Amino acid sequence: MDLSTSLRTDMCGQLTAADDGRTVTVCGWVDRRREHGEHLAFIDLRDYTGVVQCVVDEKHDLRSEFVARMTGTVRRRPDDTANTNLATGEIEIDVADIEILAEAEPPPFPLDERTDVDETIRLRHRYVDMRKERMQRNLRLRATVNSAVRRGMEEQGFVEVETPMLIASTPEGARDFVVPSRKEPGSFYALPQSPQLFKQLCMIGGIDRYYQIARCLRDEDLRADRQFEFMQLDAEMTFVSQEDVFAVISHAVANAAEAVTGERPTEFPRITWQEAQERFGSDKPDTRFGMELVELTPIFTGTEARVFQASCVKGIKMDAGVEALSRNQIDALVETCQRWGAKGLAWMKVIDGDDGPALDAGVAKFLSADESSQVIAALDAAPGDMVFLVADERRLVRHVLGLLRLELGRPPVNEGGLNFLWVVDFPLFETIGDGGKPVPAHHPFTMPHEEDWGLLDEGGDALLDVRSQAYDLVLNGWELGSGSIRINRPDIQNRIFELLGIGQEERQAKFGFLLDAFRFGAPPHGGFAFGMDRLVALLAGESNIREVIAFPKTQSGSDPLTNAPTPVDAAHLDELGLRVLPPAT
Ligand code: ASP
Repeated sequence: MDLSTSLRTDMCGQLTAADDGRTVTVCGWVDRRREHGEHLAFIDLRDYTGVVQCVVDEKHDLRSEFVARMTGTVRRRPDDTANTNLATGEIEIDVADIEILAEAEPPPFPLDERTDVDETIRLRHRYVDMRKERMQRNLRLRATVNSAVRRGMEEQGFVEVETPMLIASTPEGARDFVVPSRKEPGSFYALPQSPQLFKQLCMIGGIDRYYQIARCLRDEDLRADRQFEFMQLDAEMTFVSQEDVFAVISHAVANAAEAVTGERPTEFPRITWQEAQERFGSDKPDTRFGMELVELTPIFTGTEARVFQASCVKGIKMDAGVEALSRNQIDALVETCQRWGAKGLAWMKVIDGDDGPALDAGVAKFLSADESSQVIAALDAAPGDMVFLVADERRLVRHVLGLLRLELGRPPVNEGGLNFLWVVDFPLFETIGDGGKPVPAHHPFTMPHEEDWGLLDEGGDALLDVRSQAYDLVLNGWELGSGSIRINRPDIQNRIFELLGIGQEERQAKFGFLLDAFRFGAPPHGGFAFGMDRLVALLAGESNIREVIAFPKTQSGSDPLTNAPTPVDAAHLDELGLRVLPPAT
């Protein structure tokens, strides 16, 4: 691509031996400077394509990060000074003219990739941080992913529709960010947690296939994979089953992965939520590695060993190939499992016994010979392996062993390839909350499986067995996103509202406009949304999404660059009809 402008003929990092003898002008930042004697200096000038060595033979004031324009002749370096680590290492520019375009204070931190700089300082000076190779690579990779995803949706007939930012609340279940209204003091807009209701309206409006890379805002505690504001590929389609949704989203995601890695992922396996919980102890299994949870409950029915007298016993095995754990490490693991809610963690080494592999150490002495050999067989354990068992109520066993599995076996973020997985048949309700009301696992417009509609009328614990037509896309143990087929039958929608205890008044106040729209011919529809930040982070091999966002907030939700959030002056508050209370003591 020709990137020449009125100020430059070439890009620093693109000059090669083929340019030998040409007169060129390059612009950029002073990356490094090496003085040789009184006047002679080697200046590395940098733009986003790389650096080029400029030989300056006159007095100059150039310092680190000054912005300069250099004109000169490209020449080959003498063979013994060529730098094979550098794309431009065979040549240099013999500079005839230097123009300083901007001076610069010394940078707040070194711009090499080796120095570990405190994140708050990086974010405070993000414009300097961005000049580094890692940020340049990540932000450009992000743009590549955005455009591949857009293309992927558009080539499947999706139409981009933009939806508003100042809206009434959406039902994703997180806390809203709100914006006070000046025209109606005391009233507030909510910022969208997602475009959920609008995309459903688009379906009723006959758009057929909607998509948008939408900004979503949720006031939740921040983590490595969560920011207040994030970008979602948001999609909705009419006259579909969940199979259709899987096909289009897999296509768009495969486009993104191919654009970055050059290889098109073809495998998007499926697993039910139930199976994911039983085998991986998680609804977002990291399938880059094995170490699956093995069912041991039948072995322990009628056991004498008190610790294993529980409604569920499961175990995992750590291979001998993995570095052995020290006693201190094991004690720390036991404590960690207790923090996760387990009463304890039973661990045993597998040794060479007189009659084949046997269990040694820890609680092994409480097991009968038969129980020991059955545990070894079930876990397919060999001498040198270690086994970990948890006995408790089933949900807890799965939860604790699921976390332990990650702790012991999870590869670094940039290893193990891209393992996509569709998790299907999520339960409609997570638990039965206080007062007997079920807690929805998704938003209240999620369609239950037709075979389970009868359970809705049974109520009570039967509700926990209702499967929904809701699904997640998981990549390497990260939840990329979720979606569902929506309810378009008023009788089912009303039943769900009843079960959730959302009365007529609340329905009308919160979603009245959507319910009204449903009366005017609502086609069956369903959709999906996935987090672009997470997808980009995984494709970039980053474990923190802040590394792929140009201007993120810190973990505590503040912005060291602009200082947001900041107080608002009294006059502005008056106009909005607001008063700020003194901080609670
Ligand atoms: N609106 C949902 C979310 O943001 C996704 C969907 O159901 O399409 O999680």
